[in-house]
Amino acid sequence: MKALVCVKRVIDYNVRIRVKSDKSGVEKDNVKMSMNPFDEIAVEEAVRLKEKGTLTEIVVLSIGTESSQETIRTGLAMGGDRGILVKSSDEDIDPLNVGKIIKNICDKENPDLIILGKQAIDDDCNQTGQILATLLKYPQATFASKVEKNNDNTLNVTREVDGGLETIKVKIPCVITTDLRLNEPRYASLPNIMKAKQKKIDILDINELSLDLKKRVEILEVNDPPERKPGIVVPDIDSLVDKLKNEAKIL
Ligand code: AMP
Repeated sequence: MKALVCVKRVIDYNVRIRVKSDKSGVEKDNVKMSMNPFDEIAVEEAVRLKEKGTLTEIVVLSIGTESSQETIRTGLAMGGDRGILVKSSDEDIDPLNVGKIIKNICDKENPDLIILGKQAIDDDCNQTGQILATLLKYPQATFASKVEKNNDNTLNVTREVDGGLETIKVKIPCVITTDLRLNEPRYASLPNIMKAKQKKIDILDINELSLDLKKRVEILEVNDPPERKPGIVVPDIDSLVDKLKNEAKIL
């Protein structure tokens, strides 16, 4: 079985985001970029399935600028076998278009499993996996916290839903999106980082895919969240109750 794992290059989750002064987006120059954390979980799950003998090949796919090759290399150092970069000069491609591109690659690669993060932490869209499953007409198991292969051509996937866990059975080929508790991604070891440099990355130009990738979403402006007022220390419970009643008016 072959897996296609989709990884997006995003601003590292430890970086304090700064909005550009013209409100057109966020500052990305000289900012540390990393693999989207949910995509690290996706790569880790694929590697674990390969270690168990369920998968035979892991293809790591990213859509973005030349720099996204670094993100693919990280996936290869974690255990991916080869990479595909769909190169675009535009970093902000909306989920419908990302879904169309991934479908195009699936049509060529015929993976049995397509594993994505449940959301990218830059746009927080949480749409690509669902859109992709729809375009492919494949079953989808979103927000996965456990994936188990059955003896027939199915998987049992436990999903994190409001109020608990739901376990569903999906037929392969299918789309899986990862939730936080699925696994704890490994750090790539130095020898594996070195080995990853030899692994193949195919580079395709986004314009050569002959897809309708017209932008359907326009970002009007980006703003910082409102500043939080500093907290205060109250001397005793009576003054706390007084403030809740008379200032916050929530009692
Ligand atoms: P989103 O729907 O934007 O929140 O993204 C959900 C998931 O789709 C991400 O965690 C990635 O696995 C995948 N994805 C989104 N954008 C890209 C991209 N440019 N390249 C590769 N995978 C992507």
